[in-house]
Amino acid sequence: GGLSSKTVSMSRTSLVRGFYRLFSIRTGSKLEGKVALITGAASGIGKATAIKFINNGAKVVVADIQHQLGQETAEELGPYATFVSCDVTKESDISNAVDFTISKHKQLDIMHCNAGVPCKTPPSIVELDLEMFDKVMDINVRGIMAGIKHASRVMIPRQTGSILCTASITGLMGGLSQHTYSVSKSAVIGIVKSVAAELCKYGIRVNCISPFAIPTPFTMDDMRQLFPGVDDQRLVKMVHNAGVFEGAYCEPRDVANAALYLVSDDAKYVNGHNLVVDGGFTSFKSLSFPAPDELK
Ligand code: NAD
Repeated sequence: GGLSSKTVSMSRTSLVRGFYRLFSIRTGSKLEGKVALITGAASGIGKATAIKFINNGAKVVVADIQHQLGQETAEELGPYATFVSCDVTKESDISNAVDFTISKHKQLDIMHCNAGVPCKTPPSIVELDLEMFDKVMDINVRGIMAGIKHASRVMIPRQTGSILCTASITGLMGGLSQHTYSVSKSAVIGIVKSVAAELCKYGIRVNCISPFAIPTPFTMDDMRQLFPGVDDQRLVKMVHNAGVFEGAYCEPRDVANAALYLVSDDAKYVNGHNLVVDGGFTSFKSLSFPAPDELK
């Protein structure tokens, strides 16, 4: 065989990790017998969700544009995870990922359209980079539509299924990020309502989650640009401290827990919903009065 010793020892480590996950961290059975396809699952929120689903009895297809990382993630997750290379901007890739899932596992119960990218255009509307706008919308919006389209294709005949999208609190309020990203995430919340209105007729639920900022590679890229020269450890702390809730910060597993709830039968009557996981950040604003002597 052409495997180098490095490759062999790497996959042995992954194998050990895989068995560890399979036999030691089984935490529940809410998704026993279910099959999930998760886009953008090589890293961050998608990966945490894949782990959560597997630990609850599901088989997961990890779909991602990052080939090597995706494969490593699937190995790390153990025998119930498989990687499929997929760029959500290519409809044929999405279609193949769905067909691959069906040919491997005979069914698709859960589609998590999670892949998304941040946007690096200048903050002012006057300087908006419309080419960048198209690129971000292509992944964050069109990619989600394509995922839902092809998942529905196989779910409708079975009259069952659960579709989940990763939106963001930036889609709920202005001022939390660049216009382009914010608009793309507003669209995701809209997509969920629009598609849920049709798919409810077939017993298929469509929901989304809007997380607060989490220092995944996605956010860290942004933070490094915003605060050049600040080391990663401090950037992580800055993201964590940006929330309003004392004593906890937003982590990928918080989103994974919300995802498990939404796709499981626990949420069998929850449909067209946007579950906000933000420690209350978008629910209130503290009232602060100016000091009397500061009044203009
Ligand atoms: P991440 O960078 O860790 O993961 C995103 C994954 O998506 C990566 O593995 C990447 O390769 C993949 N991806 C990117 N473009 C793709 C494409 N065209 N086709 C297929 N896969 C592609 O980031 P994350 O924070 O886990 O982001 C996941 C989702 O969560 C995104 O939709 C993001 O908008 C959303 N979100 C993130 C945060 C946050 O602060 N991290 C907050 C709210 C919402």
